[in-house]
Amino acid sequence: MHTGQTIREAFAGASSFLRERGSDSPEFEAELLLRRLLGLNRTGLFMKMVEPFPADVALQWNKWLERRAGGEPIQYIVGDQEFYGRVYAVSPSVLIPRPETELLVEGVLQEGKSLFGDEEVRVAEVGTGSGCISISLALEAPKWAVTTVDLSSEALEVARRNATSYDVLERVTFMQGNLVEPLISQRDQFQIFVSNPPYISSDEMLGLEKQVRDFEPHLALHGGDDGLNPYRLLCRDLCSWPNLRLVAFEIGASQGAEVERLVQSIPSISKTEIRQDYAGLDRMVFGWRHR
Ligand code: GLN
Repeated sequence: MHTGQTIREAFAGASSFLRERGSDSPEFEAELLLRRLLGLNRTGLFMKMVEPFPADVALQWNKWLERRAGGEPIQYIVGDQEFYGRVYAVSPSVLIPRPETELLVEGVLQEGKSLFGDEEVRVAEVGTGSGCISISLALEAPKWAVTTVDLSSEALEVARRNATSYDVLERVTFMQGNLVEPLISQRDQFQIFVSNPPYISSDEMLGLEKQVRDFEPHLALHGGDDGLNPYRLLCRDLCSWPNLRLVAFEIGASQGAEVERLVQSIPSISKTEIRQDYAGLDRMVFGWRHR
């Protein structure tokens, strides 16, 4: 279908195909996919528009367009997403990193540095996914060592691949298991705990955009009936972490008050704060504990 064409014709064909199949931004998506397919930046693509569309990528091109037309997120098709200034490999086993989560990373870096300055710090993270939180923390704070847990070994494989690309394997440790279970024997080692757990309620799962609901891992999204189960379990377990000084959660927009209350139930928590995302929605809860 796409052979014997110029690149411009392939682009135009793809745009109208995606438009017919219901895309809201068909030109943007066609351009993005085409640039990735051909390994070109915007200018490069523009300059090559009159050249023949290379036959050896035609099959892959058609597959990509079919997948996108079926609603699959572009990030899974091209295999990566940017987060905190770096590119992370993603697969359908991991949640696509969200810009809101960059605010969680930024907050933990700021609060952690103001608590600990240039000291060595150990950070625990639950819900590794692509590894974007832990790897960003390790890269931005060279004195920090992070241990991160995920239930999904497929996710951990993706995350390890990302840690390898950024050469931080000696400061990011990956563990497979449920919530903090794999960390229990070393719980006195950690000063900072951070998590973006699954927090969507059962009702909200039904209302998610199709692109999210049909393609992203429910293990990373669904937080039980009211979406708060992971916070309940984590806050209960963190009660017995003696050296914890900072707790930071990403939350759903309606969960601020309840997650704040759960964080306050950790003994010796002296201050908590609900923080907002770019849209002004409650998106994070921070808790500080003083020794
Ligand atoms: N923010 C994600 C979404 O809206 C959910 C992430 C999560 O459950 N941790 O799809």
